[in-house]
Amino acid sequence: MNHAATTPTLTIRDVKPSEGYERLVEAKDEQTGLHALVSIHSLKRGPAAGGCRMFNYANIEAAIYDVERLSRGMTYKNAAAELPLGGGKSVIIGNPKTQKTPELMRAFGAFIEHLAGDYYTAEDVGVSPQDMANIAEVTSYVAGLEGGEFASGDPSPVTARGVFLCLKQTLKHRLGSDDLKGKTVAIQGLGHVGMSLAGMLHTAGAKLIVSDINDETVRIAETEFGATIVSPDEILHQQADVFAPCAMGGALTADAIAKLKVRFVVGAANNQLADDSCGQRLKDKGILYAPDYIVNGGGIVNVAMEILKIADPAYRENRISGLATTLEQVFMRAEETGQPPHVVADELIGRRLQ
Ligand code: NAD
Repeated sequence: MNHAATTPTLTIRDVKPSEGYERLVEAKDEQTGLHALVSIHSLKRGPAAGGCRMFNYANIEAAIYDVERLSRGMTYKNAAAELPLGGGKSVIIGNPKTQKTPELMRAFGAFIEHLAGDYYTAEDVGVSPQDMANIAEVTSYVAGLEGGEFASGDPSPVTARGVFLCLKQTLKHRLGSDDLKGKTVAIQGLGHVGMSLAGMLHTAGAKLIVSDINDETVRIAETEFGATIVSPDEILHQQADVFAPCAMGGALTADAIAKLKVRFVVGAANNQLADDSCGQRLKDKGILYAPDYIVNGGGIVNVAMEILKIADPAYRENRISGLATTLEQVFMRAEETGQPPHVVADELIGRRLQ
């Protein structure tokens, strides 16, 4: 770490957070143009951990709304994966393509260092492993690095494995068997996680229907896994057992749910439900929804091992299979109470925070 690399014009101040949040901190740096926020939602289970997003927010209010929403989400995701970590998130306001420089990332690193270990950062949208390396020059409260003793690298294969195990658990819960032979899974989005998941499902004997806005990736799935390609508009209309949203958040709108012809929804995307009423809509349609922040917790397990300096692969496997166990608890309780799984998940995980 080279503290001398930080800038003398960095100013950091606490801002009043929304109710229920521990802290909201703002940093500005004249020299590099940095304008960033860190939201710490909860420190109950340990230091807050969650990625850094760089995005050209229209105004500070939009940035605060996003960072707090994401920070609360991390509290629940970390607790769902039974990690000794709280929830936090950071945002850098700006265009990552035109405004990002190593100096700006180092100034951001100095901001993180100032929080003295209450918050650990990692990659999110608009931020790369190279940015993490720049941040790591000035603080050790950073994960998602590609080099170093506990470096966790790309979390996507671990996320995909968690999704795969949760998908099997979802089938088992309702059908009494997790056998994927002859089952059809419709995957929306064949990026880092979606493609890795497609490979696992193919190996397990599932038939695949895939869509992506990128033609090249769907062709790979067609060649390697015998997947059927459909357009992004058609994927919601497919007759399949499972719909796996692995693209952007908010895929499960009222309109999208009306089109679905599946029995299960299990996927990697964050914030899949466009709003809370969509969870009830899925239930009313007889579709079993596996809450996203339990299903996609593999990524944070990977990052957590770097933060906690754990090298044991058994820890990773235990936490990943624990996601499926937690999911089954949610399904059981949802049946007992008649509530939709996303409501039960919030209650059950909320209890882990008390
Ligand atoms: P990615 O950017 O690698 O892949 C997303 C893919 O979706 C891309 O191939 C993109 O072309 C495609 N896409 C975008 N819009 C689409 C549309 N309308 N229809 C079909 N395809 C579309 O991202 P990723 O790392 O694979 O993550 C996928 C999702 O899972 C994201 O929502 C992410 O937040 C979430 N997630 C990822 C991880 C992880 O470890 N990478 C962990 C937790 C959650």
